[in-house]
Amino acid sequence: MCGVFGILNHRDAANLVYLGLYALQHRGQESAGIASVSNESILSEGNIGEACGSTGTGEQIIAPGTPQIHIEKEMGYVADVFTHERLSRLPGDCAVGHVRYSTAGGSMLCNAQPIVAATNKGPIAIAHNGNLVNGADLRRRLGNEGAIFNSMSDTEVIVHLIARSKAPDLERALIDALSQCSGAYSIVLLAPGRIFAARDPYGWRPLVLGRLDDAIAVSSETCAFDLIGAETIREVRAGEVVAIEGGRVRVAHQFRSEREARCIFEHVYFARPDSVVFGKNVAETRKRFGAQLAREHPVDADVVIPVPDSGVFAALGYAHESGIPFEFGLVRNHYVGRTFIEPKQAIRHFGVKVKLNPVRELIAGKRIVLIDDSIVRGTTSKKIVKMLKQYGAKEVHMRISSPPTTGPCYYGIDTPQRRELIASSSSIEQIREFIEADSLGYLSEEGMVQAVRNGDEPANLYCTACFSGRYPLTNDTDACEPGVARTLLSAQT
Ligand code: SF4
Repeated sequence: MCGVFGILNHRDAANLVYLGLYALQHRGQESAGIASVSNESILSEGNIGEACGSTGTGEQIIAPGTPQIHIEKEMGYVADVFTHERLSRLPGDCAVGHVRYSTAGGSMLCNAQPIVAATNKGPIAIAHNGNLVNGADLRRRLGNEGAIFNSMSDTEVIVHLIARSKAPDLERALIDALSQCSGAYSIVLLAPGRIFAARDPYGWRPLVLGRLDDAIAVSSETCAFDLIGAETIREVRAGEVVAIEGGRVRVAHQFRSEREARCIFEHVYFARPDSVVFGKNVAETRKRFGAQLAREHPVDADVVIPVPDSGVFAALGYAHESGIPFEFGLVRNHYVGRTFIEPKQAIRHFGVKVKLNPVRELIAGKRIVLIDDSIVRGTTSKKIVKMLKQYGAKEVHMRISSPPTTGPCYYGIDTPQRRELIASSSSIEQIREFIEADSLGYLSEEGMVQAVRNGDEPANLYCTACFSGRYPLTNDTDACEPGVARTLLSAQT
């Protein structure tokens, strides 16, 4: 999963992209990168421009005064990757950036984005959120034609398709390239003087346009606009390719598809609650999930407690609908990163307590409704239930604000393989037994969709594939487990 951000026509472009990425950090914590474009020659690794000759040692010379793409990227968090010095090496009034959580390609620097390339249509930098379902097929075909890849990222495939396109200019080459891509992409592409933003025809991943004075920005989520003080203009529509030039947005192309498939998991878990995603505020949607969950699975209890932070808004909705008081009975340590090294088992096994600690005074002797957004393997839920009981909870009734997760995602969310998902092989009663809860209730698929869609919107506007098994699109069997490929084929017929 990833976050993308871009801005054009602002003298502090790179700094604003840095802030945008900072706000989008929840969408990817493995690597962060920013590319900018200017006519300045800066000595920096990875700069891309039009070569006008070469030195005696064979080094290509970039023509002075011609547009160059500057790039800085590294593994790690945005705040750690970008120092003042790094940002100063990103001049120019347009820039794009990316935060990455690996879905296609491994977690390593070569897969970090933006990807920059000197093409026959000029220098470009591209940042991509999503996953191409035909990425492996395209890579094989391009490889057979002689393409050389520097990464395992499916985004690099798009770069090759642009470079190899026979279209006479970058805009048409991009449209040509995207017409060959199948699957999820929300893209920002930087070129001298312009940014292109594109969303796949199913619209799996969000992408929004904003304005800051004379500058136009594009972001995965609106929370990034809030941070830089930009106002939201509108979403990039599903299938739309827009060109941002000067102070305006022009629709360059509109791809069509028979339906949209907006990822409902963005609303369940992934997006920030203060963002507006697919036209709806995420916090409000989560509260509606919780209220619907209370209607579908009521229970006599004393207190509603969320698993923080993912269950907070759904728990508020559940508490409001049921009339049961809401309490923060579990406190999360926000400073736990991946750097926590568990001491030797001999000292003690910390487990979930490193992240979550119960408030004994709010729990002891209570019948608890425990709300979380999903159960993946079941092991964390089991530990939390056990911990609450150790702290004196009389009963723990687990409620989940989405349906059982039964399948993986092929469109850019890093869910585990099917065999690791407890709901793929266990009934709800078996899961309840495993996590040792007194009762367990999941939000129904109908209830979830009903909570997020407006009355006049089509019922299949949202992708629910990891819950329902109805995958809207696939043609890359390499990306699928064998059982899934069969399911998909039968679902499509
Ligand atoms: Fe979202 Fe699940 Fe569909 Fe993936 S399969 S796009 S996570 S709803």
